[in-house]
Amino acid sequence: MTINGGISFWYATDPGSAATPPRAPLTADTTADVVIVGGGYTGLWTAYYLKQAAPDLHITVLEQKFCGYGASGRNGGWLYNGIAGRDRYAALHGHEGARRLQNAMNETVTEVIDVTAKEGIDADVHRGGVLEVARTPAQLGRLKAFHAAELSFGESDRELFDATETRRRIDIADAVGSSWSPHGARIHPLKLVKGLAAACERLGVVIHESTPVTEIAPRRAVTPYGTVRAPYVLRCTEGFTAALKGQKRSWLPMNSSMIVTAPLPAATWDQLGWSDFPVLGDMAHAYMYAQRTADDRIAIGGRGVPYRFGSRTDNDGRTQPATIEALSALLFSFFPQLTGTEITHAWSGVLGVPRDWCATVTLDRTTGLGWAGGYVGSGVATANLAARTLRDLVLGESTDLTALPWVGHKVRRWEPEPFRWLGVQALYAAYREADRRETATHRPTTTPLARLADRISGRH
Ligand SMILES: Cc1cc2nc3c(=O)[nH]c(=O)nc-3n(C[C@H](O)[C@H](O)[C@H](O)COP(=O)(O)OP(=O)(O)OC[C@H]3O[C@@H](n4cnc5c(N)ncnc54)[C@H](O)[C@@H]3O)c2cc1C
Repeated sequence: MTINGGISFWYATDPGSAATPPRAPLTADTTADVVIVGGGYTGLWTAYYLKQAAPDLHITVLEQKFCGYGASGRNGGWLYNGIAGRDRYAALHGHEGARRLQNAMNETVTEVIDVTAKEGIDADVHRGGVLEVARTPAQLGRLKAFHAAELSFGESDRELFDATETRRRIDIADAVGSSWSPHGARIHPLKLVKGLAAACERLGVVIHESTPVTEIAPRRAVTPYGTVRAPYVLRCTEGFTAALKGQKRSWLPMNSSMIVTAPLPAATWDQLGWSDFPVLGDMAHAYMYAQRTADDRIAIGGRGVPYRFGSRTDNDGRTQPATIEALSALLFSFFPQLTGTEITHAWSGVLGVPRDWCATVTLDRTTGLGWAGGYVGSGVATANLAARTLRDLVLGESTDLTALPWVGHKVRRWEPEPFRWLGVQALYAAYREADRRETATHRPTTTPLARLADRISGRH
């Protein structure tokens, strides 16, 4: 039987997670030099780097539930160099700036791996790169264009594989080609966020859990238990941002769902390959992402019901039965030999999508308000780059990071309901239909329907 919800598979199977009580909540008004709202990767990395750079700073993190409750404790564990909006930043600020941004992301993957090792965080890290596969002629066309674009942004170490080489690496049914990048690693997302929280505390960061922030305003974060006053208030709430006062239409909370198999026997792995543990993705419009876990399961995710009316988010990670079925069918189409394999867990989480699909990091020095996010599903590494950038912004230092083109980017707000809901439903219906047509017809090019959806949504 599939366990649905329970935050995530990572949480449900992590010894100690459910048994450990949350850290103490805030109990009274207090002050700090920097208050950070949100105990995910963005908030915790920011606290970590600020405290490393300026040990005397008093830094308080306020988390509504517990560190890792959000996407940081639920994601697919792709630590990779993708950043949402790079191509748009190239169009807005020039190719060179976007190339620097890409280079910073490449270095970020190594930075996370290095700090994880330095801090003794065992997050099942395995650097096997990222393998992105095409399974239809239209996907192959997109794969080649994607591969060429990545080379043009400086990824000279990326490799293009034909069908045979792809299937030698992972035996994926219908694979017609793939693009492999060394700038990626498989991680256990929850172990990373928990280890990071512990590393912050060792440095002297104060973390209050079970402490929802009801209002963020210049120089204060308000909770039911007291107000924290600080010159800098940093909003690190990504997919939950729409629930904050005044933020309903800033970042759309997009759902992503995952399933995981039971551990697979060695004989199955002998057939499948996947011995280098690259994280795996595809070139479908409604794309999937997967990893081979440290305990030899396959965890695979994709969009189920992408968006809930009125920007609602889930509570405990439950996903729809239809989504579990759809993800299982997708898994078995990739690996027909696994058909009937037990799916032990299913869950979902929310990520933040800006109207122009561009990740941002910002600090307004006049109000002391800062934020980072809008990573559109590529936040595991990007949150680390955002955090180091927020550190430099708070410390008032002009650095290579603060000069990157995503810093201070402004984006327009999403449409009000019901247009927001209708738009996202139509977009994903169009992508699903485009994928169906491309598979059925074997046409060599992307369907006009998907191109239209991309143009209307502002996704590309
Ligand atoms: C199912 C899924 C799979 C994904 N897979 C990948 C992947 O493989 N690779 C990748 O790069 N990205 C992936 N992502 C995206 C990535 O996980 C996120 O972009 C990243 O974790 C965001 O980190 P964050 O700290 O900004 O936000 P979160 O991890 O969501 O943390 C925000 C925190 O703020 C807290 N909070 C919210 N509101 C308040 C409030 N009012 N008061 C106090 N606290 C509050 C929340 O409880 C939460 O803990 C995935 C996302 C999902 C949902």
